[in-house]
Amino acid sequence: MNEILTVNGLRFKPFLRVDTIQEQVRRVAAEIRNDYEGKSPIFLCVLNGAFVFAADLYRELAMTNSKIQFVKYSSYEGTNTTGEVKQVIGLSENVEGKDIIIIEDIVDTGLTAVKMIDDLRKLNPASIRFATLLHKQESSKTGFVPDYIAFSIPPLFVVGYGLDLDGKARNLPEIYINCDEE
Ligand code: 5GP
Repeated sequence: MNEILTVNGLRFKPFLRVDTIQEQVRRVAAEIRNDYEGKSPIFLCVLNGAFVFAADLYRELAMTNSKIQFVKYSSYEGTNTTGEVKQVIGLSENVEGKDIIIIEDIVDTGLTAVKMIDDLRKLNPASIRFATLLHKQESSKTGFVPDYIAFSIPPLFVVGYGLDLDGKARNLPEIYINCDEE
């Protein structure tokens, strides 16, 4: 993986290799397994970006008593005059009294994560924790710190391993970072 890629006119260079990613996925899986021993948490994979991370993490966890659901955090047309309203959609499992672990691809400002957690709290789960593949700590506008973080990265745009640029580049096995912003 030495090549520079161009996606929608932006240049990207290799940043995190497959084996480095897998190593950190294994570490996060071990942490979660340890913290939830004897419990049956429900994982919420946030589509679209987290689908690759969630697939690897969930297999690595090998917690056969756990379940996984695929959700979206989407805008919907409401009558609310405050403008855009977002909600967690696609949850078919009753999560009341259950331990939830959200699986996300990236936390940037933290605004999405904070709102999503607020939304899910209304469903009265026993607990909510947050696992993210990537955390742009320097971009935080909320002070939100995910419970499980595979990588802390600089505030530059990344693609690959599920993360897209305008729907493209999700299928790159490695993570690439924008080298025009540096
Ligand atoms: P936040 O609410 O934390 O600022 O933003 C979270 C969302 O912004 C992510 O779910 C993702 O859709 C998008 N995002 C932020 N940084 C990146 C990035 O470097 N690459 C990609 N592909 N998406 C990003």
